[in-house]
Amino acid sequence: MSQNLSVVSQQIVYLNGEYIPMSESQISTQDRGFLFGDGVYEVIPVYQQKLFAWEEHLQRLKNSLAAVSIPNPLTDDAWLDLLNTLIAKHPWQDQFVYLQVTRGIQMQRDHLPADCLTPTIYAYTNPLKPVDAKILTQGIQVVTLEDIRWLRCDIKAIALLPNVLMKLAAKHQGADDAILVGRDGTISEGSASNVVIVKNGELLTPPNSHKLLPGVTRIVIERVAASHQLSFVERELTLQDLQSADEIWLTSSTKEALPVTLLDGVKVGSGVPGPVWNRMRDHYQQYKAQFVSGLV
Ligand code: PMP
Repeated sequence: MSQNLSVVSQQIVYLNGEYIPMSESQISTQDRGFLFGDGVYEVIPVYQQKLFAWEEHLQRLKNSLAAVSIPNPLTDDAWLDLLNTLIAKHPWQDQFVYLQVTRGIQMQRDHLPADCLTPTIYAYTNPLKPVDAKILTQGIQVVTLEDIRWLRCDIKAIALLPNVLMKLAAKHQGADDAILVGRDGTISEGSASNVVIVKNGELLTPPNSHKLLPGVTRIVIERVAASHQLSFVERELTLQDLQSADEIWLTSSTKEALPVTLLDGVKVGSGVPGPVWNRMRDHYQQYKAQFVSGLV
């Protein structure tokens, strides 16, 4: 099979119990995910065809489903089997799997969901590309923006319009991404990532709450930090904390930890990816290698 993603017709997706070519996959126009954004999702990295941090992603999926009262349609084993089967149908060693569950199809328009809907389950996978070498040497540019989202950002909801708008606003300002500042003046997260800062050798990140998504990469970073005697502290962060940080990172499953080197047009630290980020990157790659070999 070609490695070229443009050959989409060869990609297989999972839809409601079937593995079919992406080009043939269809859902109802009355699906509540399509009409209301009524659903939740996960994105899971795959290294050497193995799902990474699966238990954490599964737990978050279950938390999201429970939070929006969509019944979990599958058992833990069935979820794992579904994704492993999908992964094995593609040649890429490293992938990222997208998994979505919506409340299902409802013919009559009503904000109130009908009883006993059948959730729509959809999953596809893409090759996971290594982060651009330029980003690893130069970092990314970020602007701070007001967090315009709702108060349940802990749910991984498919309704991402505010995130899309904030990403667009960042682009219009010539930046790669945005860090979001809440109405209470605290930093929540990135538009599609968590925020970690380094101050005096210590890693600091906002505590999990309804204001941000509990990132799985953040959990991995905490674990890796602990095994290398790096202090990882959860506490509220302000704009001033960001501005006086030695380093700023954005963490996510597909990008791991990205170094931010320009914040609102001002250099972060010395304006290049910092030493603690460099150490963490090495440790993180080692952790992945150990995971692939079944050691962690
Ligand atoms: N926050 C938001 C809003 C996200 O969309 C994501 C993931 N894309 C994250 C944080 C990071 O989560 P994870 O490390 O589990 O990918």
